[in-house]
Amino acid sequence: MALIVHKYGGTSMGSTERIRNVAKRVAKWMRAGHQLVVVPSAMSGETNRLLGLAKDLAPAKTTDAYLRELDMLASTGEQASSALLAIALQAEGVPSVSYAGWQVPIKTNSAYTKARIESIDDARIRADLAAGKVVIVTGFQGVDDAGNITTLGRGGSDTSAVAVAAAMKAAECLIYTDVDGVYTTDPRVVPEARRLHTVSFEEMLEMASMGSKVLQIRSVEFAGKYQVPLRVLSSFTPWDMDLTEEAASGTLITFEEDEKMEQAVVSGISFNRDESKISVLGVPDKPGIAYQILGAVADANIEVDIIIQNVSKGGTTDFSFTVNRNDHARTIDLLKEQVLPKLGAQEVVGDTKICKVSIVGIGMRSHVGIASKMFKALSEEGINIQMISTSEIKTSVVIDEKYMELAVRALHKAFDLDQPKA
Ligand code: ADP
Ligand code: ASP
Ligand code: MG
Repeated sequence: MALIVHKYGGTSMGSTERIRNVAKRVAKWMRAGHQLVVVPSAMSGETNRLLGLAKDLAPAKTTDAYLRELDMLASTGEQASSALLAIALQAEGVPSVSYAGWQVPIKTNSAYTKARIESIDDARIRADLAAGKVVIVTGFQGVDDAGNITTLGRGGSDTSAVAVAAAMKAAECLIYTDVDGVYTTDPRVVPEARRLHTVSFEEMLEMASMGSKVLQIRSVEFAGKYQVPLRVLSSFTPWDMDLTEEAASGTLITFEEDEKMEQAVVSGISFNRDESKISVLGVPDKPGIAYQILGAVADANIEVDIIIQNVSKGGTTDFSFTVNRNDHARTIDLLKEQVLPKLGAQEVVGDTKICKVSIVGIGMRSHVGIASKMFKALSEEGINIQMISTSEIKTSVVIDEKYMELAVRALHKAFDLDQPKA
């Protein structure tokens, strides 16, 4: 008998029929003698629907007063799906109880809409498990010290599940979703993508942070920090499939790098359309400009990703960086109002129609020429590279958004990731 955490995403919980299916699957695990904690997402589309209602009433704001209410609102999606799952389980004859984040409690900081989990009190969950119940814990939400409901950022139910698994030292955390594992790239964009049987924790971390939204990045960080055995698998297989087969399906996030030795140098390709590029032109080239520009941006709590500074010509230079698209307008206004006058720069220009495409693989550590192979594949498609950023196990480029799919397909092919043709 083992303690297992299951997480079901929005599509997996998307209708009462799907919820019944989840209940039957969970009941099967329970009857096989396991203790189950289940973390559901809101039914698919529900979080967007709720946030859309707020937008109808008022333009988005960044004040705490507004963001607090967004969290009050968005958290109801998970509360509803959790209660529905408990009802479905009870209908299957399985004793079950659901808890909202604040009832557990899952304590977070007070950063509304992107709160971080600080602690989880598992006493209530353990007592229910001991009493033979399946315990359902709402994904995506927690409570701060002052008792305000918080949410963990989009896709945050993954993080709730891994955090609960870490706190309870669960034997495994199974992330059930609408694909049957982690692929070499998003299978919705490249049909030739292949499922990975295993992916190293480090690669998964890079893939998630470079835009592969199959797992929220915080969930991978938690899994790494607490060594939580993590598997991504499909909830769309028949619920009554053989349990041993199910338990070995999907993709295992592994901490053993040796297992990867035989595999390709590049394991996956990620892409991200959430960023925009901002350039400050004609900046007098003298010490302190990076600090003056990016210091002001950081003070406004805006995260910066890729940064480049050009060589100076005639004493001035251009300075470019990327931010999240949601922060685009705010960053430009801030630079125009606070930084340009002080710096004596000529102009600030922005481009929201960019994307970032990244190749990821731990094999890149021990192989040379991988980045140049990437640049060659892109040049053969006539794709212009605007920015480049590298780390030990990834290379990212910023390109025009309209070439994103072309770039991902070309790279998938160039690095031999396509499925062999049947
Ligand atoms: P859930 O609602 O279950 O959390 P998500 O939509 O958040 O599901 O994540 C699953 C989706 O992630 C898939 O449907 C797929 O389109 C997308 N995805 C992106 N990159 C990958 C990848 N490398 N492997 C698998 N799926 C990916
Ligand atoms: N319901 C939340 C979202 O749509 C959290 C999640 O699904 O993981 O982002
Ligand atoms: Mg998700």
